[in-house]
Amino acid sequence: MGRAFVGIQPSFPAAAREALKDSQLRTNLAHATGTIRGKRARVTEELPDWEFLREAARGIKQQTLADLADLLVEFEKNAQAAGAIVHWASSAEEAIAVVREVAERHGVESFVKVKSLTTDEIGLNEAMNAVGVDAYETDLAELIVQIANEHPSHVLVPAIHKNRSQIRDLFIEHLGANEDTVDDPAVLASIARAHLRSRFLDAKMAVSGANFAIADTGSLVVVESEGNGRMCLTLPEVLVSIVGIEKIIPSWEDLEVMMQVLPRSSTGERMNPYTTIWTGTAEHDGPAEVHIVLLDNGRSRTLAEPVGRDALMCIRCSACMNVCPVYERTGGHAYGSVYPGPIGAILTPQLLGPGQAETLPYASTLCGACYDVCPVMIDIPSILVHLRATGPHGGTEKAAFAEVARTLSNARGMRRAHRWARFGLPLARLGSALRIGPIRAWSRSRSLPQVPRESFRDWWNTR
Ligand code: SF4
Repeated sequence: MGRAFVGIQPSFPAAAREALKDSQLRTNLAHATGTIRGKRARVTEELPDWEFLREAARGIKQQTLADLADLLVEFEKNAQAAGAIVHWASSAEEAIAVVREVAERHGVESFVKVKSLTTDEIGLNEAMNAVGVDAYETDLAELIVQIANEHPSHVLVPAIHKNRSQIRDLFIEHLGANEDTVDDPAVLASIARAHLRSRFLDAKMAVSGANFAIADTGSLVVVESEGNGRMCLTLPEVLVSIVGIEKIIPSWEDLEVMMQVLPRSSTGERMNPYTTIWTGTAEHDGPAEVHIVLLDNGRSRTLAEPVGRDALMCIRCSACMNVCPVYERTGGHAYGSVYPGPIGAILTPQLLGPGQAETLPYASTLCGACYDVCPVMIDIPSILVHLRATGPHGGTEKAAFAEVARTLSNARGMRRAHRWARFGLPLARLGSALRIGPIRAWSRSRSLPQVPRESFRDWWNTR
C-alpha cells in the first residue's frame, strides 16, 4: 500500500488553474495571510536579536539532523524510563497498525484528536474509520474541515480557505446551530465548544502529534492556541502520540530557543496560549497509558539527501506559506499534500520519493520571501532549484543550458545563434501565438523577445 498522503492528483498546474477560478478563495486567503503576515512582522521586528535567534534555531536543527540516530535512541530510553511505550514505524501503515492495536485492546469505537499534521500525513482518520473507529478532531479549524469533508489547506490555519459565513452554514448543517445563528466568531466558537465538551468527557483514548520531542528527558511538547489539545492530552486514559523522527531536539535549553521563534513565526504572538509538556506517565495525573510512535515514512531517505535534507529542519510554523505569492493565489488544496506552500513544495516530493509530486518544485516564483521569514533559515529556493534539476525535466534543462554555454563561449557559435534567431524566433513566436510547437507551455505566461533587424556585430562591421 502506498503512503496515505492526501491525493497527489491532479498535478499542481491543473489544480492551481482550477483554484484560480475561485475569487472567494483568493479573497479569503489574501485577507487571512495578510493579517498573519502583519502580526508576524510586528513581533519579530521588536526583537533586536531576532536574526541571532534564527541562527541559533538553525544550528540546533542542523546539529539534530547530524546526530539524529543517537538522539532518537536517547529519547526512546528516557521516555521508556518515564513509563511511555515507544514504537518505531517505518511507514504510515506501521504507525496506523499501532493506533489500531491500542484502540482494539481498549475496546474504543472513537478517539479525540489533537491537531496533528503527522496524523494527516499518514491518513490516520480515514484508515481508522475504515475499521469502524471514529476520529474526532478537536481543534476548531480541523473540526470545520472535518465536518466539511475536506482536507486542511494550511498547516496552521487548516480552514483558512473558509470565511465566517461559510463556517456558519456548516455549523447549521452539521452541529445543530439554528438558522438565526449569526456569523460572529464568538458565537461560532461557543457552538463548537458545546459540541466538543461531550467529546472530551466521553473519550477514553486520544491521539496527538508533537511539536518537539526532547531527547534528554524523553518529553513531548504540544504548542497550541485553544486549550482543546490540552484537554485531549490530560482527560483520556490512553494517549498515542505519533511523532516524526525529525521532531527531536537535544535538550530543554534548545526548547527555549524554539519557543521564542515558533509562536512569533506562526501566529504572530510573543507566546502561544497553551504549551503542554509531558514525560511518560504519572500516577493519578493524565493518561495512565502513553504510547509514542516514532515515524519515519520517507524521512530517512530525505535525510540522506545532501541538499534536500534541510527540509527536515522545518518546525511547521507556516510563515513561508503566508508570504508566498503562489500559495496566496492558489490556496493549499492545489498542492495535493498536507504540507502545502513552499515547505510542501520541497518536503512532499522528498517524503513520497522518486516519481511522486514532481510538479511541486515548480510551484514557486523563486522570489526568496520564504527563506527570509523561515525561523530555521531553510534555503527553500535553493532546494527548489535542486529538486527541479534532479527531477524528470532536469535532464532536458541541463542539456539546454550546456548547449547555451557552448554557444556563448565561442564567437563562431554566437554568429550561428544570431543567424538562427533571425529566422527561428519569428517561427517560434508564431507557434507560441497558435499554441503549437515545443515551447507552447513555456510561452503560456512569457513573451518571446522581438528580434532586431540587424545584430550588433553586423552594425559594428558596417561602421
Ligand atoms: S519551512 Fe520554515 S517558514 Fe516554512 S513552515 Fe517550515 S519552519 Fe516555517
